[in-house]
Amino acid sequence: MGERLRRHVRSEDTLARIGGDEFAILIDGVRDIPELIADRLRVALRDPFPVHGSSLRVRASMGLVRSGGEGGLQTPDDLLRQADISMYAGKRLGKDTAVVYQPSAGVRAEFPAALREAQGGVPDGFALAYQPVVHLPDQTPAALEALARWTAPNGILIAPETFVAVAEASGLGATLDAMVLGLACREVKDAGLDVDIHVNVGAARLGNPTFEEQVHRTFDECGMEPSRLVLEITETVPIVDLADAAAQIERFKALGIRIALDDFGAGYNSLTYLHALPVDIVKLDRSLAVGADPERDLALYRSVIGLCTDLGMDVVAEGIETQLQADTVYAAGCAFAQGHLFGKPVAISELTRGWHEPSGQIGGGGREVNQPTNQPT
Ligand code: C2E
Ligand code: CA
Ligand code: CA
Repeated sequence: MGERLRRHVRSEDTLARIGGDEFAILIDGVRDIPELIADRLRVALRDPFPVHGSSLRVRASMGLVRSGGEGGLQTPDDLLRQADISMYAGKRLGKDTAVVYQPSAGVRAEFPAALREAQGGVPDGFALAYQPVVHLPDQTPAALEALARWTAPNGILIAPETFVAVAEASGLGATLDAMVLGLACREVKDAGLDVDIHVNVGAARLGNPTFEEQVHRTFDECGMEPSRLVLEITETVPIVDLADAAAQIERFKALGIRIALDDFGAGYNSLTYLHALPVDIVKLDRSLAVGADPERDLALYRSVIGLCTDLGMDVVAEGIETQLQADTVYAAGCAFAQGHLFGKPVAISELTRGWHEPSGQIGGGGREVNQPTNQPT
């Protein structure tokens, strides 16, 4: 890679390998527009690399930044960080991308600032969207998942993965999660909806006594029943102390809160978590829903769902976009699902129209839930 890249930069430019598969190139002096340079590099990498008698294709995600742009003069660290932000913005779009840094991408500084300024309240540009979790096969809503939305000061809608990661990295993950929890409780109550609420919380919240206090306070302030709340644990950072996390989950459960393990099948430690954490609900990651072969999908779903059911956990299949996917997960024994087929995340005001009363509770352990019959619809 290094050799190939070197052939396409000038001797006055600097080429560096800054990590396992990360390279940085400093182009000295004003030259072509960044997109042109990126395009030249992309073409240079297009030819496969011969390795031990076989040929490997390499695709690169590139983040570009011009010094002395709108944001004023940057330090070398600023430039690397901004190139990094652009590269990750590109990775979200797919592989083989080149994204030029725009100061708008300054989420890393702006979101924490907005959170801090709000002092526990709701920051400017922040809102929640709600997506129904439905009961199969009648597709009636069983719960609502609250999903965070943030529009940066320059009017650009930032992906939640980005600002959630930024909040976590700035030590504000608990502040964000507590704020979302409070907002969701208030909005659902004000809308007059009698429904369970799912709120996402980073795995780092397990074993954080301050967060537990905040949960108590939210219940007091909103007059919400703990049995209405499901906390979805998202693996933003690996859970190091599983015993500690399990103890925290038990404390939440003692209050009547249910706990869901989010994105099951996407992380690295999924099976370990399933074994160690006493969760009520498992949410199957949407990557499982997009297999190419329905037969194999069904087999995979059937064994994963069987495993969870044997452990006494309810299963929600995520990312269901087609009726075929819905039929597949239902046939595999999954009673709950979520996805664009049933409804995209929308503002609470859009949900109150045509609202059906929930038909059962997920992960209620013996509470009334219609059992699936293992028959496709
Ligand atoms: P998640 O918890 O797995 O949320 C589901 C994501 O899948 C949502 O993306 C939702 O819009 C999307 N989705 C739902 N149905 C479909 C479908 O049928 N097809 C496809 N392609 N996508 C579907 P969103 O809202 O962009 O959220 C992304 C992630 O950001 C969430 O993943 C969650 O991990 C995190 N997140 C969102 N809100 C919060 C929050 O308030 N706190 C924390 N800690 N994390 C949050
Ligand atoms: Ca979730
Ligand atoms: Ca998920």
